[in-house]
Amino acid sequence: MKIPFNRPGLHGRELEYIQDAIKRGKLAGDGHYTSLSNALIVDYTGAQSALLTHSATAALEMAAILLDLGPEDEVIMPSYTFVSTANAVVLRGATPVFVDIRRDTLNIDPEKIEAAVTSKTKAIFVVHYAGVICDMKAIQAIADRHDLIVVEDAAQALLSEQDGKKAGSFGAMAAFSFHETKNIISGEGGALSISDPRFIERAEIIREKGTNRKQFFRGAVDKYTWVDLGSSYLPSELTASFLFAQLEIAKDLTKNRLAAWDRYHTILATYEADGVIERPTVLPQGQTHNAHMYQILLSTPELRENFIAGMKAQGVITPFHYVPLHSAPAGKRFGRSEGDMSVTDDISARLVRLPMFAGVDAEQDEIIEITCSVLDTL
Ligand SMILES: *Cc1c(COP(=O)(O)O)cnc(C)c1O
Repeated sequence: MKIPFNRPGLHGRELEYIQDAIKRGKLAGDGHYTSLSNALIVDYTGAQSALLTHSATAALEMAAILLDLGPEDEVIMPSYTFVSTANAVVLRGATPVFVDIRRDTLNIDPEKIEAAVTSKTKAIFVVHYAGVICDMKAIQAIADRHDLIVVEDAAQALLSEQDGKKAGSFGAMAAFSFHETKNIISGEGGALSISDPRFIERAEIIREKGTNRKQFFRGAVDKYTWVDLGSSYLPSELTASFLFAQLEIAKDLTKNRLAAWDRYHTILATYEADGVIERPTVLPQGQTHNAHMYQILLSTPELRENFIAGMKAQGVITPFHYVPLHSAPAGKRFGRSEGDMSVTDDISARLVRLPMFAGVDAEQDEIIEITCSVLDTL
């Protein structure tokens, strides 16, 4: 393997901050670097509050607890997403209801949401695929009509914007991921950002094993005790110090990715013109993405297989995703789908991702040369 699909690495002061965290003599969660990271995430999302977690999965689980989801409840979400969006709901005994995506953004199709609303629907979990923000005006209007809460699975969307608002500031709360495959990383890592102040205090309790430990340290209560449901959702200071080093240069790392994204996009234009591939949709004025992913669509599933094999033969790894949740064994067992899923089924069979990571520009000439040579043979 010459070029992996992702190359997680050091880009700033990660090692210096880890050493400093150790020197500070506190390695558990909620120390110096967690506070610094929380503050930057508030800044980058426009949310009221942010809490580091050990993953976006954990943040989604916290959201499901905060919404008091239970066996009588349904949550509408796209089928074309990572399993954590649905697992968080299923862990509370609630039912994920899958709807189809739009062909242009690959995000949940607002026109399909309303048909999925029942008297049991409690929330809509939107997913900003590839860092492209969903059509939030339309989705919030539906949520308002039916008194539903919107949660953003913004795992891929840190620093994306729509109409001057940042990812993480649209829903009541949002989950972000700092997994090594995301734009800003700490190996494993995540955050829950909260925009609806009603949820802030309880989120702190849920994250701290259901105790009011945080209020105790603020001096708000004179002893701390078990007060609610909870688990251990906070990362250690070792993780937070690595993360903060990346967060403080997040805008530069995003710029680097965007330049690589634009380069892929320009060079692959002729292949789209010739009908060999489809490129990602360019966003309208007022919307930005964060170059989380550069994905292309081959014309048929067979051609995708040939493309991936051709790339691999020349040492470049190009994965695809997702197995649509409505057709996955656990999705069928725990969820249900509403309406036709033809776009999800079609896209998931033809999509493939080109290598994309901070610093990919150093290897991009080679990737592009190999990509073009493989596309020429299809
Ligand atoms: C990566 C991802 C997750 C899970 O993130 P973790 O931090 O690995 O738990 C959830 N949802 C989406 C859409 C993702 O891309």
